[in-house]
Amino acid sequence: MRYIEPHAHMVSRVTDDYVRMTTAGCQAVCEPAFWAGFDRGSVNGFHDYFCQLTEHEPKRAGKFGLAHFCWLCINPKESEDIKLAREVIDIIPEFLGRPNVLGIGEIGLNKNSRNEIKVLEWHVDLAARHDQMILVHTPHLEDKLKGTRLILDVIKNDKRIRPERVIIDHVEEHTVKIVLETGMWAGMTLYPESKCSPARAIDIIDLYGSERLWMNSACDWGVSDPLAVPKTALEMRRRGHQSEAIDRLVFQNPLKFLGQNPRFKCPS
Ligand SMILES: [Zn+2]
Repeated sequence: MRYIEPHAHMVSRVTDDYVRMTTAGCQAVCEPAFWAGFDRGSVNGFHDYFCQLTEHEPKRAGKFGLAHFCWLCINPKESEDIKLAREVIDIIPEFLGRPNVLGIGEIGLNKNSRNEIKVLEWHVDLAARHDQMILVHTPHLEDKLKGTRLILDVIKNDKRIRPERVIIDHVEEHTVKIVLETGMWAGMTLYPESKCSPARAIDIIDLYGSERLWMNSACDWGVSDPLAVPKTALEMRRRGHQSEAIDRLVFQNPLKFLGQNPRFKCPS
């Protein structure tokens, strides 16, 4: 099996996870900027984090022959502090030229607050000004549908953004359709407890097909599984999906989306 892990927070995983992912057939891993589990105190904390994502982490992955890419932003959870958010957004351009940077993400909403929406608009503007792709996080709470609608409106309102260069992540049964209808891509996050279970993800594929869809583990410092994608591929096989259909979902689809950025190079 070959697959791409398009969303994993490797800075919070141990090196053994890189070994396990490579052994399972992972060809490339992409790491959106995320919340550290605590609020960072200043713009300097983000500067160091962006250095970690663009310098240290690609080297750590490279030891196992794994290509590592990242996305940059201040995540929605820390966007309530609008002054800090502005400072962080202002340092992002100095990192956009680094060879493993794919775009702006994971931006989006957490509690759908006014400040979060303002910071989302700033990020979308940043992406438009620098011709960057966008990766979006949607809220996990009961407000997912409302949050997804708000996010889609902000992105659609900016006519400089091409929908096929945007992925809306963490979709579920009640949000996947409205995302795909915009022409954007949709990501399904496979979590052991919340978000999408492997069985639910395959149900969604059975209902909507696999066009403009990908799967990821979004593994981080919490309860999560860096092997969720290959495990779901095995579950697809068990349910009678053909090898070509599995390869399309776990390898060719992410390659197609990410390959819109010429920097994304995958070994096979
Ligand atoms: Zn994430």
